[in-house]
This record gives sequence, C-alpha cells and structure tokens, in this order.
Amino acid sequence: MTEKSGNITIAIDGYSSSGKSTFAKAIAKKMGYIYIDSGAMYRAVTLACLREGLNPEKMEGDPKLHLILNRIEIIFKLNEETGEYETYLNNQNIEKSIRSIEVSEKVSTVSKIKEVRDKMVMFQRKMAGKKSVVMDGRDIGTVVFPDADIKIFMTASADIRADRRYRELLEKGIRASFQEVKDNLIHRDQLDETRNESPLRKAENAFQLDTSNMTQEEQLEWFMAYFREKLTVLK
Ligand code: C5P
Repeated sequence: MTEKSGNITIAIDGYSSSGKSTFAKAIAKKMGYIYIDSGAMYRAVTLACLREGLNPEKMEGDPKLHLILNRIEIIFKLNEETGEYETYLNNQNIEKSIRSIEVSEKVSTVSKIKEVRDKMVMFQRKMAGKKSVVMDGRDIGTVVFPDADIKIFMTASADIRADRRYRELLEKGIRASFQEVKDNLIHRDQLDETRNESPLRKAENAFQLDTSNMTQEEQLEWFMAYFREKLTVLK
C-alpha cells in the first residue's frame, strides 16, 4: 500500500458483464467518489473509427486513426433525469450507440492497438486527477493505477454474465438475441486475455470476487467490510 494524501483509488477489473460497472457505480455513490467507465472510452473510440469508415482489422498505423485520436474528446455528463452519467464524443451524446452490437463486436479489436491504449490511459489518469475515484475496466489495477489502494477482480459464470448483459440491452431498447450476446462476450474475453498490450489479467494483489451468486446489495455489503479492513491497514 502506498502512502496516501487522503485520496483513494479503487480499481475494478474483470470479464465482460461480470457486474463491474454496477458495482463500481454503487461504490462511487456510497463513498461520494468519482466513477469512470473506461470501457465506454474504448467503445467511443471504436464508434468514432467506424463512423470515419475505418476497418478496425486494418487501421493500426493508419494516419487517419492518428488524426481521430488527436481530435477525440470523450467526456461523461450527468443526465439529471436518470441520475446516470452518459458518454459524449466530441460533444455528442453517444451513450446508446456505444452499447450496440456493432460496436461491441469491434471494440476488442480496436482496444488491442497500442496507440489507442496509450491515449486512453493518458485520459483516464487525467480524469482521475487528484480526487478519490472508482474506475472499472480490464487493466486498471495492472496498468492504469498499479498503486491503487484497492483492487478487485470480478468474475461470474458465462451464462450469468450473458443474462445480465442481455437484460441491460433490453432495458436500453437495444435488440439482440441471448446467444448473440453470450457469443460476443466470450469472444471479447478471449481477445482481451490474449492481446499483447495490457492483456486482461488479475493483478497479483487484487481480490478475486465471484459474483455469480451474489446480489448487488450483498456485493456492496462485502465491499464495505473489505474497505474497512483495508483502511485499517492503510492507516
Ligand atoms: O467494459 P466494457 O465491456 O464496456 O468494455 C468494452 C471493451 O473495451 C472490452 O471488451 C475491452 O476490449 C475494452 N477495454 C479495455 N480496457 C479497459 C476497458 C475496456 O481493453 N480498461
């Protein structure tokens, strides 16, 4: 554990749809910390590239990608009605578009590119600034914040994860079949685990939390106990 100046960093990594973002948002709300969805940022880059007609399989080293990354501005704005933060790409609300199956199918290919990762990691560190933050993703505890105070690696069975994502999409009015959703997340996990740049893996000092049989309330309850225990070590 590093010496802290009062700010706490919580890194939550894990497989697709293991419940990271719901968990991270609940922690941020309870603790009054900032929540940053790093996956939304990779999705935003993917959408920007698709809109510019780039082929994610062939765009590594393409000057057009370089241009897109230079111009890109990704921010999160609070939707007062829902109380949820939404993703904006160059001032346009893209929250719904980045959850589409089209973006989900390409995002892990885009996320393999070093230039993309370098830029996103820079944004993520800048966004966190000097505040207490909860960030979820695939490389937060290993690369973005290797000195995070608390690191959690979330898992759950593939069927449970697919069911969660499927329901989430339905709620957002995005049509997809259960099988399509399940295949997509298994494929993404495989690409994320085997890529050269910051592959998905559990940081050595991360706590592995299997949420297959845990409700959201139980997860938060577990976290609060774990946090208290860690804080005593920090002091
Ligand atoms: O979290 P979410 O499922 O929205 O992330 C979408 C994709 O973005 C992941 O499958 C992964 O390929 C990529 N990602 C990443 N590193 C992160 C967060 C997401 O490579 N820190």
